[in-house]
Amino acid sequence: MINIPKGTKDVLPYESYKWHYVENIIRDLTKNFGFSEIRTPTFEHTELFLRGVGETTDIVNKEMYTFEDKGKRSITLKPEGTAGVARSYVENGLSEAPQPMKMYYITPVFRYERPQAGRLREHHQFGVELYGSDSPYADVEVISVAKSLFDKVGITELELNINSIGCPVCRAEYNKALKSYLKDHIDGMCPTCKERLDKNPLRILDCKEEKCKAVNAKAPRVIDYLCDDCKAHHETVKNILDSLGIKYTVNPNIVRGLDYYTKTVFEFVSTSIGAQGTVCGGGRYNNLVKEVGGKPTPAVGFGMGIERLLMVLESLNLSVGEVEVPTVYVAPLSQDLIMDAYKIVADLRKEGVSAETDIIGRSLKAQMKYAGKRGYKFVVVIGDEEIKNGVVKIKDMSQGTEDPVQLINLAKEIARK
Ligand code: ATP
Ligand code: MG
Repeated sequence: MINIPKGTKDVLPYESYKWHYVENIIRDLTKNFGFSEIRTPTFEHTELFLRGVGETTDIVNKEMYTFEDKGKRSITLKPEGTAGVARSYVENGLSEAPQPMKMYYITPVFRYERPQAGRLREHHQFGVELYGSDSPYADVEVISVAKSLFDKVGITELELNINSIGCPVCRAEYNKALKSYLKDHIDGMCPTCKERLDKNPLRILDCKEEKCKAVNAKAPRVIDYLCDDCKAHHETVKNILDSLGIKYTVNPNIVRGLDYYTKTVFEFVSTSIGAQGTVCGGGRYNNLVKEVGGKPTPAVGFGMGIERLLMVLESLNLSVGEVEVPTVYVAPLSQDLIMDAYKIVADLRKEGVSAETDIIGRSLKAQMKYAGKRGYKFVVVIGDEEIKNGVVKIKDMSQGTEDPVQLINLAKEIARK
């Protein structure tokens, strides 16, 4: 037997309805907010991520699925959704279209990580990207999409953490202060953080090691070093959130795992699914479009892990939608009547009623058992009598009632129920 690769998952026929449930809500909600879907390839030239994501992150340093294709090009399976969208925005001249450009995606994401609960090598993200606005309202618009999604599915326990990591100007000042603090505490840090000290000290604040967390707790806070512009932006974001009644905590230790962020960063964190509790992370990245070769374009967005969202829903016993089953099962009394049953089903389908019949050659008893197990709303048994008289009985499986109806009116009657 050939097994599934480590860190990947099948979505089986009896559970795909959960994905449809979430995806349908996402599509409705993004439309409600005026976002349009963008689909970019599953793989890109490796240099897009090296440049776009920045070279000091774990994602780029350790986690990418990179290979050489037969044409000797270095190809990488997308480790996140944002860089591909930025490439597409530049390559397709989307800056010429009416701005802001509001896009969303649902995409598989590939990262070579140590698989554990809530951490896969292929996971899926719902992301939104808002290009062309530096306004704090754009930040809040993006945060509101995530918040509305959580509201819609009934999750109230997620905590919104926000922070500002400033712009290259104020961050340079901050980096100096942070570096000098960390230098004094280098002995207490993990080997990875020791390496990070010179290249990207900010990243150290993101470390999950206990001893680094202890050092970080007393580190200077980026929020105290913001320039006037970044400070005003941050204050306005908070004011808008306040006026909308969206609760948040300012968490100075949120820096996010990607290098391209500027100003606002945020995370929605759950306490119900264990260590891998971040369901959604995002922020502003005003320098990314320029980095991938476009003209400077402010942008803000987020990525939300769909597997983690489903984990939260299930751990809180919230709805994950309903199993998708056709409405009617048409059961021929004997195999002589299968053609009649099949024609009835074909007619129902043409009328837009989802229907099924026996294509496996089972006895009526076995068919009824199947229909019960699968959870059909209605069953119609077809015998010689029914065909002769053109009258059938619709059995309502949840009520246990039976109603006679003219065969020619079957679709209409079922649609009415
Ligand atoms: P984490 O801190 O958990 O590693 P991250 O900072 O790497 O998350 P992002 O790159 O911001 O995560 O990705 C956005 C979201 O995608 C995360 O908040 C999470 O819900 C989900 N996610 C990230 N990595 C994985 C993974 N390996 N398996 C499942 N979901 C993931
Ligand atoms: Mg990660």
